[in-house]
Amino acid sequence: MPLLTCQELLDYLSDYVEGRLPAAEHARMDEHLAVCPECVEYLHSFQATLAACRSLRSADLAQIPDMPEDLVQAILAARRVAPLTEPPAALLRPAVGDEE
Ligand SMILES: [Zn+2]
Repeated sequence: MPLLTCQELLDYLSDYVEGRLPAAEHARMDEHLAVCPECVEYLHSFQATLAACRSLRSADLAQIPDMPEDLVQAILAARRVAPLTEPPAALLRPAVGDEE
């Protein structure tokens, strides 16, 4: 059976993390993660973000003075490894003069 692609893995990542996948599918995810460090890193970011969201949700939001550093880092890490981002349009065209 061919390995899952990274995209397929991402599609099922939340089911994987929550343990909702059938054993055979879960094993295929493990197979991909065994050979794809990028997806492992993404998985860790995803889990950290989930954990941060859960702790946020269960806390009294009004009593949190600032965004937890863990959450900020998890979001930044997830953005860094997101596979489908495109470069900002500004990077694709030559610089033009002042727009003001
Ligand atoms: Zn992958």
